[in-house]
Amino acid sequence: MTDNPSEIPNEIKRETRKRCAFGCIICGLPVFDYDHIVPYSKTREHSANNITLLCQNHHRDKTNGRISMEFIIQKNKNPFNSSRSKTAGHRLHIGGARLKAIIGSDRYVQDMDQIGSRFDAITLEGIPLIYFEFEEGSILIGATLYDKDRNVSLIIEKGEIQASTGSWDFESSGTSFIIRSAPRNIDVVVDIQEDTISITRCYLYSRNLAIKIDESDMIVVGPNFEMSVGGNYLENNGSGFSFG
Ligand SMILES: [Zn+2]
Repeated sequence: MTDNPSEIPNEIKRETRKRCAFGCIICGLPVFDYDHIVPYSKTREHSANNITLLCQNHHRDKTNGRISMEFIIQKNKNPFNSSRSKTAGHRLHIGGARLKAIIGSDRYVQDMDQIGSRFDAITLEGIPLIYFEFEEGSILIGATLYDKDRNVSLIIEKGEIQASTGSWDFESSGTSFIIRSAPRNIDVVVDIQEDTISITRCYLYSRNLAIKIDESDMIVVGPNFEMSVGGNYLENNGSGFSFG
């Protein structure tokens, strides 16, 4: 059976992601494969109507015939996440006690076992918006990340990532999670490679403060000030940045 997902045009993939509310149609997992409901070898075309999202487990179940075509068609009409504001969660696993993180252009290295159990990387008006916890030998990321229009678009709690189903686009691809608010607007990028957690793009908001993070800088904007806090290296600093 020829079924080469790499050949699916990007716009058809995006249309499929949105229609399936950014997750496996059966369980909602926001890490998924693109599946031709009727195999590509039979249709020889990539039509969004015939493409759906399945997590690896459910993709294997379909391929092996453990779930019926009728069930897939039924779920495709009413995907798991479509009636929910957030996708189901996907647990990220980062082992070891040494936190290595990149947020915008700031780099953090922290031996978590030296500071108890928690490292707040970015706190706005007393609310930690990007933080890390150390539990049972694993580093667990926590974050509330916004798009540029102040919508919460990615929530990570105790290492479990959930995407807002209201975004224009959410893509999990390779090691990255990407939120777009329009065709060329990449608002949020989270990437996990080896043991390094990178948040290279996002917006953070609190009542009076706004932060824009990208690969080159972190800009903090308040009611009567604006400052750049990029390009820093924090090793075993005990805490990150706190504003307000
Ligand atoms: Zn699934």
